[in-house]
Order: sequence, then C-alpha cells, then structure tokens
Amino acid sequence: MKINFNQPHLTGKEAHYMYEAVMAGKLSGNGKFTKACQAWFEQRYGFRKCLLTSSGTDALEMCAMLCELKPGDEVIVPSYTFVSTALAFLREGATVVFADSMKRNPNLDAESLEALITPRTKVIAPVHYAGVACDMDAIMAVAKKHNLIVVEDAAQAIDSYYKPNPGPSLKGRGQIIPLGGIGHLAAFSFHETKNVTAGGEGGLLVVNDERFVRRAEIIWEKGTNRAEFFRGEVNKYGWVDMGSSFLPSEVNAAFLWAQLENLDDIQAKRKALWTRYYERLKPLAEKGFFTLPDIPEYATNNAHMFYIVLPSLEARTGLLAYLKSREIYAAFHYLSLHSSDYYKSRHDGRALPECDRYADCLVRLPLFYDLSKEEVNTICDAIETYYQSAC
Ligand SMILES: *Cc1c(COP(=O)(O)O)cnc(C)c1O
Repeated sequence: MKINFNQPHLTGKEAHYMYEAVMAGKLSGNGKFTKACQAWFEQRYGFRKCLLTSSGTDALEMCAMLCELKPGDEVIVPSYTFVSTALAFLREGATVVFADSMKRNPNLDAESLEALITPRTKVIAPVHYAGVACDMDAIMAVAKKHNLIVVEDAAQAIDSYYKPNPGPSLKGRGQIIPLGGIGHLAAFSFHETKNVTAGGEGGLLVVNDERFVRRAEIIWEKGTNRAEFFRGEVNKYGWVDMGSSFLPSEVNAAFLWAQLENLDDIQAKRKALWTRYYERLKPLAEKGFFTLPDIPEYATNNAHMFYIVLPSLEARTGLLAYLKSREIYAAFHYLSLHSSDYYKSRHDGRALPECDRYADCLVRLPLFYDLSKEEVNTICDAIETYYQSAC
C-alpha cells in the first residue's frame, strides 16, 4: 500500500465558504474572508497588523520592499532554506550573505552572526525550520546592537512559540511568544505542504513594528492608499508609492478560513503522528543510525515536519531507495543555496559545513493530517527492517 509524502487536507467546510464568497458577489481581494483571516491572526497571536498574500514568497517580497534596501546592502539569510528567503532580498538589489546552520538543528547559527556583520548589513532573516524557533534572544540582541531589521521567515511556523530567557531585552518577557511575532516583520506560507493551506497557495505578511504598517498596506494594493480611502482617512485615493498586487482572491481566503477554524484539531492530529514517529524511532536513534528532530529548550513543536538526520549521503540514499521500494515516499530537503547554480556565484566562498551536512543527510518522513497511525507504524516497521537487515 503506497504512502505519499504529502497530501492536502480538507476540513469539510472549504467548499461551503468558497460558495459563500461567490454568492456574496465580491471575489476580489480584501473582502469578508480576507478580513476574517487577518483578524484571526491578529487576535490569536497578538500580531500588530496582518495582510494575506498570494504566497509566502509574496509575503517575503513585501518584507524585502519594506526594508528599503539599496544596492550593496547586505541581508543575512541561512543557506539551508527554501529559495524565497534569499530571492526576495536579491530582487530588491541587496547582497545576500549566507549563514551556516547549527550542529543541533538546521536553524541559523546565531553564534556565527556577529562575524557576518559589516557596516552594510541591514537585515537578518532567520528561518524557523520545521516550525522550530531559532535562538531569537541571541538574534534580536545582535539586531538591536547593530540596528538591523529582523524578518522572520515563519513559513513553516504557524502556531509555534518561542520561550525567551529570563531577562530584560525582549518584549513579552516571561511569556511564550508566537513565532512571527518577534521580528519587525514576518512571513507565513499557506502552500499545500504547510500545516494549513489557502487552497494550494497563500501567505501572510505580519507587521510587528508600527513604522511599517502604513507602507505595508500601500505596497499590498499596487502602491495605492486605498486602505486609508476606505477607512475615510483621505477623500480620494491615488498612486503614492511602489507596490504590486499581493492580495489573494476571496476564494482562497474562504478556503483558508475553513482551515483556521479547525487549526486546533489539525495541530492535535499532526502532533500525535509526530510523537508516534518519535517514540517508535527512538530505539534506532539510540543505536546511532540517525538523529531525531531537535527541539531546543526555548522552542515548541508545531509538528510541521518529521525529519531524521543520517550519518552520510550514502546512508541516506540507501534508506530512501529502500523506502521507495516499499512504496513509502520519504524525501530529502534543500540543496544549500550557497552551492546552487544561481547563488554559488553570489556567495563569498566561505565553507558552510553544517548546511552541506543537512543537504546530504536529512530525510523527511510523510506527515500530513490524513496519514493514519497505522501508516506511521508501517513506515517505522520498514525503517526497523531496513536497519535489521543492514546489521
Ligand atoms: C514554503 C516556504 C516558503 C515559501 O512559501 P510559498 O507559499 O510556497 O511561496 C518560504 N520559506 C520557507 C522556509 C518555506 O518553507
């Protein structure tokens, strides 16, 4: 019985809300469902201002536009990430400076940041890989010291949190803070591979710093001050800035609304599957065949992904081939950007050994809402059998 790597999930009310959007007679962006989704994020997580976008990439591009970068300005991004984290800034004419990952997990190594900072550094864009928080105390401290903007790529990080160290430097001290609510700006993705989807593609821009709110609304709607016009703050609207068409259709927002309404159920199911993987694979990890996902003491788990890290590329190739022969579709993940065709010539040549290791050795196992516990057992049985025959 074949087990796919990913399968989009329907909560049941998507078609109903999409029909409602059509019958309401307004399908373009910024209608009832768009506003409901944005308000949901603002209320549930305390984000200052949320704007739905057509993709996570779009939200990152809006962040990059808001940073007002000049040619030669530098933006620090992890190399082990999806291309959009870097692309958004490169499109604005900035130079991307790649950071290595940590040994313990694929997130950007905050301890290496100081060494990457120059007088031209303007932005740090940490990625919360697998929905697990980066070391945000350390990152925000470096940003504050050098007056940098922090853009969180929270594409994978819905409903995940950061637990600050005790101390005075970060807002919300003593409380856990939702990811996407720590940096000046943040981007979420609702692509079909994420925990919730807006019908295949979608994203969200989060503005936490007040100084970006007005311009974010303008950029969102093609450089017009429509938002202020509809609130009655100006008596006509016009073209006042740069921008693009970043709003999604109401049909996508309606789809997303059905998913958000069921977020707690989606998260509970994903976490149960994640935990089953963890428990079942622990004995093999203890024997040293691979390592399990790392959740640092300052992070929570949103069960976006279940990955294991093998000791070598050969070991990974062997396991993936075996699983495929059993019709289990596991997957590796990013080719590090600094080694990729396009970005290689834009990289300063530093070795990034941890990124290379994750690029060679990380395996993602199937994890989606409609995967059953029995299927997780089947996958874990197969992995056990593989290692029994290997010894
Ligand atoms: C999914 C993802 C994106 C891009 O989101 P899209 O909605 O597919 O454009 C960006 N960064 C990371 C880390 C992602 O996982």
